[in-house]
Amino acid sequence: MRAFEVWCLELPWDLELGFWSFRQAAQALLCARKLTSLPEMPLEPKNIQQIGSELAIQWNDGTESFFDLQLLRRACPCAACGGEPDVLGNISRPHVTYSDKSFELTGFEIVGGYALQPRWRDGHGTGIYSFQYLRRLAEVNASNQSA
Ligand SMILES: [Zn+2]
Repeated sequence: MRAFEVWCLELPWDLELGFWSFRQAAQALLCARKLTSLPEMPLEPKNIQQIGSELAIQWNDGTESFFDLQLLRRACPCAACGGEPDVLGNISRPHVTYSDKSFELTGFEIVGGYALQPRWRDGHGTGIYSFQYLRRLAEVNASNQSA
């Protein structure tokens, strides 16, 4: 949806839409988009950077996500950790033990053009975080912080 919003804002506004409310215009555009089924731009990070205890990702649709490293590690989607936020955004893995080193990032790789694979100082590095998963995680992270 973000990509659509950007696309929408970039439309020229001299299309004689003045007499419509924005809502009507947005609905018409959404409709037009469905009819022409514009391809979605594949989600990709443009820039990934660790800033203090957070990982910042700049996406190719112009948005930015920030991940607390603890949350990122606790959300590790590998088979051993199985971390995925539940519907309430809570992440709890009672059978996984962490140390301070578990939340220190030593590096990361982009895997297969669709995912991020972080390496942690405690030696763990099998978690493959798809970009879609990261986006969802960022939303959970943001809503937890504002709550
Ligand atoms: Zn894991």
